[in-house]
Amino acid sequence: MNQHARLKQPPIPFIDLAAQRRRLGGAIDAAIARVMAHCQFILGPEVRELEAKLAAFSGARHCIGVASGTDALVLVLMARGVGRGDAVLMPSFTYCATAEAAALVGATPVFVDVEDATFNIDARNIARAVAAAKQRGLKPKAVIPVDLFGLAVDHDPVRAAADAAKLFVLDDAAQAFGASYRERKLGSFGLATAVSFFPAKPLGCYGDGGAIFTDDDGLAALVKSLRVHGEGVDRFDHARVGMTGRLDTIQAAVLLEKLKIFPEEIEARERIAARYSAALADIAIVPRPPAGYRSVWAQYTIRLTSGRRGPLAEALKAEGIPTAVYYAKPLHRQPAYGDCPVAEGGLPVTERLAHEVISLPMHAYLDAPTQDRIVAAVRRALGR
Ligand SMILES: *Cc1c(COP(=O)(O)O)cnc(C)c1O
Repeated sequence: MNQHARLKQPPIPFIDLAAQRRRLGGAIDAAIARVMAHCQFILGPEVRELEAKLAAFSGARHCIGVASGTDALVLVLMARGVGRGDAVLMPSFTYCATAEAAALVGATPVFVDVEDATFNIDARNIARAVAAAKQRGLKPKAVIPVDLFGLAVDHDPVRAAADAAKLFVLDDAAQAFGASYRERKLGSFGLATAVSFFPAKPLGCYGDGGAIFTDDDGLAALVKSLRVHGEGVDRFDHARVGMTGRLDTIQAAVLLEKLKIFPEEIEARERIAARYSAALADIAIVPRPPAGYRSVWAQYTIRLTSGRRGPLAEALKAEGIPTAVYYAKPLHRQPAYGDCPVAEGGLPVTERLAHEVISLPMHAYLDAPTQDRIVAAVRRALGR
């Protein structure tokens, strides 16, 4: 194909939600129609059914459907009484919602560097972040590891470091529901796990949605109360200050249909990621999940030495191929969070990743010819 023909090919979507919609259209329309017929829009039967199915899927004792991934994080912090004067440790190399949740309850995010190989929080830096928090007169209360891009955190050492500092672990699995660590699905690492069903996440609904997973009966009861305005013995009794934080029945109905094909979609994502890696490993640093981890590939992210990323993105864009950079501006360099403490020693790995990462189109319906077109364009742009 000559250059003129290449530039005239149809654009490729970064995440193709329409492909899944074509596959599931009829079943989801019928599920939504059932909700329209029974009219229990708030905490209807589909919410309870979904909570039971998601708990079984993840292996956690409880699942509580909430309005978003951000609310899932906020509700757990509220339930544990985290607030002003408290420090919440987390990576800076994450989406803003991780820090936002801590800030919304009045606590101060404290940033910890990540591992070079996994992009996830480095447990060896937790003690130094605790020290930085104490130096500022803050009380360290929790750590929020983030299972970034669909890959689980190395949870065992994080748990050990958290226990040593008397912190509870709130796992931010917003991008990684369905992923496994040491043959166990995410959902029961730490005190609680927060998940998002934003449409572009591996398991997404048709709007905003999220869930909290926990094995702790007391915490489950508390967040159930908090998501309904701190409801006590009945809905006219307000035992505590809560919020409107429920998952909509319609979104639960959508998720019940999508959950049926989710295991198959995870396998498709794994196949597509392996195909990318086989085709690109000689020209870029490709992601390699450690042994015993199963990623859900929310993103397929490669690394290029500094300065090569921009030209690659430009060349692909000219051929109708979108890319994205998560995250060019880590949280400690964002105006909203720039004043927050950083663990002693700084965040050198985070800084490096921010200059080197670039994500390619990734979803369960990326077919081989389209992927071949992406791979060929990447190789051409990188001069190979
Ligand atoms: C998407 C995301 C969230 C927030 O989820 P919402 O449902 O959009 O509120 C939290 N943390 C991380 C790491 C995310 O990627």
